[in-house]
Amino acid sequence: MIEMIDVSKTYSNGVNALNNIDIFIEKGEFVYVVGPSGAGKSTFIRMIYREEKPSQGSIVINGADLTTLKEKHVPYLRRNIGVVFQDFKLLPKLSVFENVAFALEVIEEQRDVLRKRVMEVLDIVKLKNKARFLPDELSGGEQQRVSIARAIVNNPRVVIADEPTGNLDPDTSWEIMDILENINRRGTTVLMATHNREIVNTIKKRVIAIESGRIVRDEMRGDYGYER
Ligand code: ADP
Ligand code: ADP
Repeated sequence: MIEMIDVSKTYSNGVNALNNIDIFIEKGEFVYVVGPSGAGKSTFIRMIYREEKPSQGSIVINGADLTTLKEKHVPYLRRNIGVVFQDFKLLPKLSVFENVAFALEVIEEQRDVLRKRVMEVLDIVKLKNKARFLPDELSGGEQQRVSIARAIVNNPRVVIADEPTGNLDPDTSWEIMDILENINRRGTTVLMATHNREIVNTIKKRVIAIESGRIVRDEMRGDYGYER
């Protein structure tokens, strides 16, 4: 499903962000990625959807080897990976409906198929009644739910979330976790980088800890770990 073999990443400025990473994530797993700021979590995550390329090693996602994947095939990879960001990254001039539809439109679905699918995923995130709203008419939690709807609209096998609760208050963060767990229960692999100790220690899942570019811990039903 997601496999990294001896992966290292050195940025063009010489920063050594990841070193000799070996990892295997099975279909349907829920994995937290934890570690201090600057540890390499975002780099690890960005390589999975090929926002960054490794300097060394190989990455296999859903059977496709990213190191030999042709540029023209990257859109197919991206369609099978939904991405959720800390700052939502919604298009401000488009409605909730349009933000989600935009992700589907690239594959030229028929209009009625598109409408049905967009309303289905807005139902999953409980925002059907706000389909016509603009992002800035929504709370932060609602905006994050739109971005989750956008991430799952193509029925990806993997959802990647980089600090999805980082800008949200605690109550709203638990709501977002409910939705991510729900998506995971339907069989989607979820990978989530987070600094949220309460969530990691309460909703027990696999924990991969990264420090100074190396995996220092990989535990099923692990703890957040770091002292306050
Ligand atoms: P984390 O997500 O754990 O905070 P990052 O993966 O963002 O860690 O960063 C790991 C290291 O790589 C840091 O030293 C950071 O400054 C550096 N880094 C991250 N992105 C880039 C980039 N685009 N160019 C150069 N260095 C980067
Ligand atoms: P069911 O569980 O029978 O699929 P739901 O009402 O729960 O019914 O799901 C509604 C729609 O959401 C379905 O069309 C289904 O394809 C879609 N769906 C289910 N799981 C996911 C997922 N992980 N990502 C995206 N869409 C999903």
